[in-house]
Amino acid sequence: MHTDGQIFAIKRYAIHDGPGIRTTVFLHGCPLSCWWCHNPEGRLAAADSALAPYKATVDEVMAEVRQDAVFYEQSGGGVTFSGGEPLAQIDFLEALLQAARKERIATAVDTHGHSKYQAFERILDLVDLFLFDIKIFDNNEHKQHTGVSNELIFANLEALARSGRNIRVRIPLIPGVTDSDTNLTHIARYVAGLDHIGGIDLLPYNRLGTHKYQQLGIPDERAGLKTQAPEELEQMRSLVAGYGFTVNLGGGA
Ligand code: SF4
Repeated sequence: MHTDGQIFAIKRYAIHDGPGIRTTVFLHGCPLSCWWCHNPEGRLAAADSALAPYKATVDEVMAEVRQDAVFYEQSGGGVTFSGGEPLAQIDFLEALLQAARKERIATAVDTHGHSKYQAFERILDLVDLFLFDIKIFDNNEHKQHTGVSNELIFANLEALARSGRNIRVRIPLIPGVTDSDTNLTHIARYVAGLDHIGGIDLLPYNRLGTHKYQQLGIPDERAGLKTQAPEELEQMRSLVAGYGFTVNLGGGA
């Protein structure tokens, strides 16, 4: 069991990473390479010291997380482990989840799903809510835009659904890539066939992270993308809701 790991940020008072007021801990490392990633420092070895991941122990992380325990209780919030891909450091993640459970702090894990299912099995009983990202239904397009096949991701979502755990599916709305009617319809139809999906979060595109690309000295391929207009978002929300889901625009609940 690793009692320390690599993180790149801790965000307090987060309201888009699960229910209530939360603290989000970002673990470093991700096996995907989505070109629109707004946390490029979460998967690259940043040379810039302001963006470089840093070592933290479970105790250090929990010291920060427990500072807002009173807000979690009042708001139905808790701690969310995100990334990068938090399951990429499964020993550290498991130790963090155990520590949170010991302190009765509600837990969520925001995963991109591309990990061995054995890693999920290790944390099943320690996670109150899985936030499970699905990006692109078509496998060729998925490979083209993220660098990996989506087969493992779907297999993991199906296994997680069979396990009876609480899951919300999240779709990042990348203009012209993930936000098409076709992609949203395919994903919504597929997810409607699974059990224990508590709802779908549609995450509107934003330009966050531009300065990070500059600091990292790598091209920001998102330069031409425009944020979706409110009426477009409402249309997407109603398309997905048509499959019987509670749909949140943004990730709070
Ligand atoms: S899965 Fe998330 S963290 Fe990983 S590259 Fe894609 S957007 Fe970035």
